[in-house]
Amino acid sequence: MHYCQTCEEQRSMTPRGEAAACPRCAAVAPASRTGPLFLVTGASGGGKTTLLPLLLQRLVGECAVFDVDWLIDPLARSAPDGQVDWATFRDLWLHVAHGVTQNGVDPLLLGPFFPRQLDDLPGRAWIGEIHTLVLDCPDDERRRRIQSRPAWRARDIEEQVGFGRWLRENVDAVVDTAALTPDGAADAVVDWVRSLR
Ligand SMILES: [Zn+2]
Repeated sequence: MHYCQTCEEQRSMTPRGEAAACPRCAAVAPASRTGPLFLVTGASGGGKTTLLPLLLQRLVGECAVFDVDWLIDPLARSAPDGQVDWATFRDLWLHVAHGVTQNGVDPLLLGPFFPRQLDDLPGRAWIGEIHTLVLDCPDDERRRRIQSRPAWRARDIEEQVGFGRWLRENVDAVVDTAALTPDGAADAVVDWVRSLR
């Protein structure tokens, strides 16, 4: 994503401390700081959509908050067969997140990602530590929430219940959105972010 502006051939730079450096000529690029990424993940029905506006309100000036679904449609249109390449999709978000860091705020992504999926992507080198929190709820509550959605939304209920269980067991920070009001859950996420910034 950062290219050397000194070398005659196109050459990708690599992160070096707080900067990007050319491995060939040792030129250093400005605006290439790495910083943390906050990942608020969860299977469908966990509460990501509900929490989005509440987190946007609370984290003004601290985080740039995104729903990762926003890039699905344009990415699908750019694919010859209309099918999103999900690894590219995730990598795109890492590149956006790196750009957000240059603006002096921390990126926070709401989406069903988990860190292991991001580790091998090209954009990962430009991100510092990834902090992950899962928005969770009991399995029956998840089934009920997904069933009550409009018909156009996905209803892969048991797959989502399984993914939710996996996240619950593999992510340390968990907020149970069934045990809290939406405001209470948003406050819990904000407390978690502020404890790590
Ligand atoms: Zn160079």
